[in-house]
Amino acid sequence: MQVLKFGGTSVGQPERMHAITRLITRNDQPKIVVLSALSGTTNTLVQMGEALSAGKKQEAQSLIDGLDQHYQAFIEELLSTQAKKDEARSMIKEHFEFLNITLRISFNEALYRDILAQGELMSTKLFTLNLQEQGVKVCLLPALEFMRTNEDHEPDLAFIENKISALLAQHAGDKLFVTQGFICKNYKGEIDNLQRGGSDYTASLIGAAVRADDIQIWTDIDGMHNNDPRVVDKTFPISELSFDEAAELAYFGAKILHPASIWPAQKYGITVRLLNTMQPESAGTVISQASINADVKALAAKEGITAIKVKSSRMLLAYGFLRKIFEIFEKYRTPIDMITTSEVAVSVTIDDDSHIDQILRELKPYGQVDVDADQTIICVVGNFVAEQKGVVNKIFDALLEIPVRMISYGGSRHNISLLIDSKNKVKALEKLNEHLFKAD
Ligand code: ADP
Ligand code: ASP
Ligand code: MG
Repeated sequence: MQVLKFGGTSVGQPERMHAITRLITRNDQPKIVVLSALSGTTNTLVQMGEALSAGKKQEAQSLIDGLDQHYQAFIEELLSTQAKKDEARSMIKEHFEFLNITLRISFNEALYRDILAQGELMSTKLFTLNLQEQGVKVCLLPALEFMRTNEDHEPDLAFIENKISALLAQHAGDKLFVTQGFICKNYKGEIDNLQRGGSDYTASLIGAAVRADDIQIWTDIDGMHNNDPRVVDKTFPISELSFDEAAELAYFGAKILHPASIWPAQKYGITVRLLNTMQPESAGTVISQASINADVKALAAKEGITAIKVKSSRMLLAYGFLRKIFEIFEKYRTPIDMITTSEVAVSVTIDDDSHIDQILRELKPYGQVDVDADQTIICVVGNFVAEQKGVVNKIFDALLEIPVRMISYGGSRHNISLLIDSKNKVKALEKLNEHLFKAD
């Protein structure tokens, strides 16, 4: 079984849906196709939910109407027979009736997540109708029946595995399955999601659950680039990455992959390929257990980071100090990304500041607490062997004019992380690109 995930831009135009139809029917290997919502849909649903929660019903209504028109035009171009167009229109109508009802009932978080789920529900149904019109036999698997998160909001892989195996067994004769990325149910049975960009995570979880031959993430670029192509010119695709390297890049901001999307594939050693729907013949990036040559491979940047420093003379020689500090973050379920220590102080970074006031209040008794908001972690990923000289020099040369707030090196052999002020992010990425990737 192969798992193929197509992102928003890959299904965002009727002709792109036709292109992926051709792509997945090139051979008759069994496949599970995971789809995102049409590009722009989830953003519009987010805006609509925000308008509703702010009581701006008029604004929410016009967002719904705009989206409805978009889908009407999409159906007209996607499908050619009147029968299938009618089927698509009545299917879409139900989703828009639901969205319109949300304007008249009281808003809450569970309803908001239900609103966000409509994009993937519609895209998969449209794609299925398109396949059927082309005479392709397809089975639509409802992700809400097998994709489940637990009380810690983490995917419940055992549940997913059991449910999806049972569903596949019910359709033993079928070879082509389509399902929704992103959406799931939580432990309370409510509709939920795997966070923005979560369809990559869905694909990896399904790949792990069915022990797929490989997991293909089809998007609008020819693989993982060595730097953020939205920020820096002259980036290039990386042909091979290890799971660890890809996980670091995804976690530290490479938008092409959801931050958590590597571990399920890694758990079962399933190769992940990043491929371009616009150029299906490009090699893309292969992510597997193997790691090639000790070198700098790529950079990524994660914005919205807050650095917290606790300075205390009592830290000197005091065992248990770090544990007490970490327990405070644990209590508020706030993950720490970077840590640096000196004799008298410890600095940590967090990307979720929703409990920062409580955390700061509880840190106060341990010493002087300083906070720097609007920071960015730059993550340099490669296969650094300790003896390898030069990488750190090149990084410092590149950042000569940029103040560095924290550095983390040696935690793993794949990552050197630097914390800088977000206002210097673009310059830092450009300078590092010049210094780390220029021809020697
Ligand atoms: P999809 O809708 O297919 O999930 P995304 O927009 O989520 O696509 O991810 C693909 C985009 O990620 C690319 O168009 C590119 O702009 C961005 N991106 C950011 N960093 C990288 C990187 N290091 N390599 C490749 N793409 C990256
Ligand atoms: N549609 C969702 C989003 O835009 C999930 C995804 O595309 O991966 O975030
Ligand atoms: Mg994405």
